[in-house]
Amino acid sequence: MTTSSAAPVAMPASSSAPTSVPEALGSLQNTSVPDLTAAERTRIQAKAALFAPPPARTADGRKDLVGLSREELGQAMVEIGEKPFRAKQLWHWIYHQGATDFSAMSTISKPMQAKLAEHFVVGRPGIADEQTSKDETRKFLFRFRDGQEAETVYIPDRREDRGAVCISSQVGCTLSCTFCHTGTQKLVRNLGVPEIVGQFMAARDSYGEWPSPAGDTPRLLSTIVLMGMGEPLYNYDNVAKAMKIIMDGDGIGLSRRRITLSTSGVVPMMARCGEELGVNLAISLHAVTDELRDQLVPLNRKYPIKELMAACRAYPAASNSRRITFEYIMLRGINDSDAEARELVRLLKGIPAKVNLIPFNPWPGSDFKPSTRERLASFANIIMDAGYSAPIRMPRGRDILAACGQLKTASERRRRAETLADTPPLPAPNSW
Ligand code: SF4
Repeated sequence: MTTSSAAPVAMPASSSAPTSVPEALGSLQNTSVPDLTAAERTRIQAKAALFAPPPARTADGRKDLVGLSREELGQAMVEIGEKPFRAKQLWHWIYHQGATDFSAMSTISKPMQAKLAEHFVVGRPGIADEQTSKDETRKFLFRFRDGQEAETVYIPDRREDRGAVCISSQVGCTLSCTFCHTGTQKLVRNLGVPEIVGQFMAARDSYGEWPSPAGDTPRLLSTIVLMGMGEPLYNYDNVAKAMKIIMDGDGIGLSRRRITLSTSGVVPMMARCGEELGVNLAISLHAVTDELRDQLVPLNRKYPIKELMAACRAYPAASNSRRITFEYIMLRGINDSDAEARELVRLLKGIPAKVNLIPFNPWPGSDFKPSTRERLASFANIIMDAGYSAPIRMPRGRDILAACGQLKTASERRRRAETLADTPPLPAPNSW
């Protein structure tokens, strides 16, 4: 990460320059040195506000309690003339028990249940589409109150009763990575806190994983990867609040060690994410030269590889036991040579790292091809010989619309066809 305040101090060369160290420091203190990283963060967050989600309310004006912080939940109780301590009770029912109906909250009196239902809902995104693959990968297309849709995928572990939930952070994406199907969809808006938390909760509904398993009790939905549609660090505030809710020990209680945020390299937001959330980090790297990465991940033109690697070295939540994952999509004849594997090893020097090699999963309209088995093996061996873990992640759910963004595109096409045929569109989910 580059900050001008961290840059080396060059002594002025002119004859009027201060000659002693204290004089030099004095003149520096009088100069306001802009913190470019802070300025960039402000710019990114101002831009995020332009794509803010709509208010989390139903059409009849009831507020969604999902996504409120504990303080906000207490405030919501005060607004209806109740004591803020109710927030603790509700938190338990919403996030530990997974209740969506106030009448199921048995420790709350019937008149109070009715009052809560008059003012509030405990929402979930509606399911516009759901597909389960032969390999048991389950893909959801969730539809939100304003009709926008985003994808969530549950990827079960092949050997154990656990699995990862891949969550989206935006509807569409601004970044246009050329190998990514979602990159062909323009950014519509950021997802709100209830929509981000709601994806995980609705996936758990689908597997009946309530109440939240406590302590070391095994979980079927055991990890979260923020690797779905969108760039999570471009929607940082909503993502951070959602993850804090999910990590809260009195509710869902998923440890920060079980959450991985994947970024294509929004350098100015990375340290903040590590300091505030302490979650695992994954980097969509995919190329080892700026020349190629500029093409594959256009954000590289703004934050080139050198800055990205410096931000990884400084990432506060990384250690040998919590390595940064470098995602590398293997594209035949594009980025999969032995020389590139060696360069990757050089780039990773000094970073507690592991590498995920991902064979490209072709989608209609893309010209890329997956690397051959031999290339994959040779590339992986070079990385492993250098001491890094480099598993080849075989694509899951190949028999369903597996590439991220495909389910949404199919749904949009269907909706367009319905509109053209002048038939009523699919109903909006009634819970949202
Ligand atoms: S890879 Fe991620 S950041 Fe890049 S276009 Fe796809 S969703 Fe956006």
